[in-house]
Amino acid sequence: MEEPAATVGVLALQGDVLEHEAALREVGVVVRRVRRPADLAGIEGLVLPGGESTTMSKLLESSGLFAPIAEAVAGGLPTFGTCAGLILLAAKVEDGRPDQRSFAALDCTVRRNGYGSQRFSFEGVAAPVGDALGAGKAPLPAVFIRAPLVTEVWGDAEVLAREGQDGGGAPVVLRQSNVLGATFHPELTSDRRVHRLFAGMARAGGWR
Ligand code: GLN
Repeated sequence: MEEPAATVGVLALQGDVLEHEAALREVGVVVRRVRRPADLAGIEGLVLPGGESTTMSKLLESSGLFAPIAEAVAGGLPTFGTCAGLILLAAKVEDGRPDQRSFAALDCTVRRNGYGSQRFSFEGVAAPVGDALGAGKAPLPAVFIRAPLVTEVWGDAEVLAREGQDGGGAPVVLRQSNVLGATFHPELTSDRRVHRLFAGMARAGGWR
């Protein structure tokens, strides 16, 4: 019997919402835009898109979404952040604005715009580490746009991919129980491995 599709919310305050919606539909997920607290009811996963983390932090507060999302993430809601979305999930943010807030759900330090001016935005690849994204399989195409650099990982955070053909670079995909984060933008390429992994987390999460 076919499993019922999971309903996944996409935070739609700012950022590349459309691209995530399209990627999620491709992996068989029902998509709902999240703009206010009532939109969180009934979702089984949440995507925090790329954009500008300082702006998103402000809009999360003014929309009243910050507190209920923080509670849901801490309570186990499967949550996937890309780029600015990952910054919103990181335990520590370097080079952020002093008033920038995060859900502190991923045991890592990220440095905003940490690839420096030479590599501010670039198309690279990411090599899977471990089984979740298929170690030894083809590297993931990885579009980095003013990407955060993961400078430290500790505790329960697991590295699922590293930058570079042979994975010699910084961690770029991390998972910690119900939380998944990518420093690049898998929604901007046609490789759906990361979204498929998240769809599986949403289906398995048992969150309502
Ligand atoms: N540099 C942005 C930030 O600090 C992130 C960029 C992105 O999401 N593409 O939020």
